[in-house]
Amino acid sequence: MPVFRFAPSPNGYLHLGHALSALLNADMAKAAGGRLLLRIEDIDPARCRPEFEAAIYEDLAWLGIEWEQPVRRQSEHFDEYRKALDRLEADGLVYPAFESRAEIARLIAAREAETGTPWPKDPDGAPLYPGNAKSLSADKRTRRRAAEPFALRLDMQAALVRIGRPLVWTETGGGESREAEAKPERWGDVILGRKEMPASYHLAVVLDDALQGVTHVVRGKDLYESTAVHRLLQELLGLPAPVYHHHRLVLDAEGKKLAKRDPATTLRDLRAAGWTPTDVRHTVGL
Ligand code: GLU
Repeated sequence: MPVFRFAPSPNGYLHLGHALSALLNADMAKAAGGRLLLRIEDIDPARCRPEFEAAIYEDLAWLGIEWEQPVRRQSEHFDEYRKALDRLEADGLVYPAFESRAEIARLIAAREAETGTPWPKDPDGAPLYPGNAKSLSADKRTRRRAAEPFALRLDMQAALVRIGRPLVWTETGGGESREAEAKPERWGDVILGRKEMPASYHLAVVLDDALQGVTHVVRGKDLYESTAVHRLLQELLGLPAPVYHHHRLVLDAEGKKLAKRDPATTLRDLRAAGWTPTDVRHTVGL
């Protein structure tokens, strides 16, 4: 049976963009005779709040969406993420990197000055990791690890060698089903966890989709490029690949992607202003 999921992060109120995603998931699950899961992606304690989680349930129920219980909350599953990270590290695919943000910025500035060319960025516009922590001796690594904060990074080169063939996924966004080419190398040595948090968005999403038997990932186009990292992690961890459907984004009047900090379009504000769920459906083009 097809399994769909809507996976919001409780770091703000849901807006029209989330409504499109949630409604599309619900509509597609229904059309396919499938199930709809709700997952709360709350691994970041600095940004996630219980009141936003409560609002997610309220807003989705108001939209008329029904989801299965129990709801999976990522913050309750750090042990599972840690196990996967440990496994990748034991496989020689993950290494600790100790540079602070400021050090990374300095390294990049130095490289740019040296070469006269801009340092490459990932598809989200963040600079690729410029450091050489992966060549630290085992001894130094162990010592620094005990004393300093660190990020656990995927050794992209080693991971690509391990897989040894081009990766693809089935993409149904935009109508026809097609094979999309995954280019995880564009992300460089992505962070998969930190000293104080043994998970990252990429790692948790991939593990949870597999654990929950998700067969169809329906989410916004802003996550299209991330799918390359997700496919790579699935291969490295021996997990199945769902079908992906990246849908159009709901844009604001200036043509920019809606943000959670943009109060005018939160579902609760629209509801307070007298909108009905049908108004929401029409506005997001469903
Ligand atoms: N939690 C992510 C977000 O709110 C979505 C994850 C996904 O659908 O893969 O942007």
